Amino acid sequence: MTTDQSETVRTGTDVVLEARGVTKHFPLRRTARDLFARKRRSVHAVDDVSLRLRRGTVTALVGESGSGKSTVARLLAQLYPLTSGEIRLGGEPVVAGRGRSFRRYVRRVQLIFQDPFASLNPVHTVRYHLTRALKIHDRAGSGDKELEQALADLLNRVQLTPPQQFLDKFPHELSGGQRQRVAIARALGADPQVLLADEPVSMLDVSIRLGVLNLLRDLKERLHLAILYITHDIASARYFADTTLVMYAGRIVEGGDSETVTQRPAHPYTQLLIASAPDPDRIVAQEEQEETGTGEPPSLIAPPAGCRFHPRCPKAMERCRTELPPRFDLADGQWAACWLYEGVGARSYENEGTGTRASAAGKEVSR
Ligand code: SF4
Repeated sequence: MTTDQSETVRTGTDVVLEARGVTKHFPLRRTARDLFARKRRSVHAVDDVSLRLRRGTVTALVGESGSGKSTVARLLAQLYPLTSGEIRLGGEPVVAGRGRSFRRYVRRVQLIFQDPFASLNPVHTVRYHLTRALKIHDRAGSGDKELEQALADLLNRVQLTPPQQFLDKFPHELSGGQRQRVAIARALGADPQVLLADEPVSMLDVSIRLGVLNLLRDLKERLHLAILYITHDIASARYFADTTLVMYAGRIVEGGDSETVTQRPAHPYTQLLIASAPDPDRIVAQEEQEETGTGEPPSLIAPPAGCRFHPRCPKAMERCRTELPPRFDLADGQWAACWLYEGVGARSYENEGTGTRASAAGKEVSR
């Protein structure tokens, strides 16, 4: 591939779904204490989030519980209206709507939920769930024979074979992994371009998680799907995702290819996440893990000024308490929203030896 071609792939038409400056604040119910307040208080769940989902790639959105990552998935699925920002599908701005326009949108963008038992109706069979999805999206064919074939194709795609063995089962007759495969088959019934997978394996036994992740990876490759993989497990992002974005307290703080972000984390919060996820392969030394910071995520009703991570950050400087850090580009497409990288261009970042990276201010950042 030439440089021009690879640039086209990076920036051009392979982007299916895009969020630009997406923000979501949930207003709180007024209490007696708020009666004289000028402004209504709200939960700042998501602030100024931008991301691109590309055809045939998995993008992981990683963060602790309450960081806003599931809200991003729901905003992209059009389940909540935006407070501000824009979502683009196939390069066209998406106008929030119900009825037909919403159905057209969900035909292309499908959401898979965390709990497959809750997302399947316990009184209906697998056949009912899949037939309904095919009919809603006009993919059931014109007769019984075509419908049976479409149902068998869906179950074959998610490796529930032979299909006849599963079609007439109820959700309680299936294992957790099989239920999640049915939920994925139902999403595929729409023939989507984008799958938004919200913690798709976190409620499954450890022994079957890998099988479901491998299935999603296989679907990405065979169907050329763009997948957003929401997870709190940064180790699984390294294994499964092409690109990793790290979210903290409603903002994305670091991004880049998964290998780089997980093996050479730049942002102190990503270093904290890596340090708390045991992985014998990683480069971070044990004594450095102890310097990565502790504490709890902040309240999103009154998030900290400046960098939201500053109350927990062992490398916080004075300006971190008042000034929001912008995104600083590092080497190989990696970036971090952290003042430590102000003035550290791609070249100086690449020239760093192993173990530490120097900021423009001369401070050292442990890997
Ligand atoms: Fe820490 Fe400051 Fe960087 Fe925030 S901007 S992560 S407080 S060093």
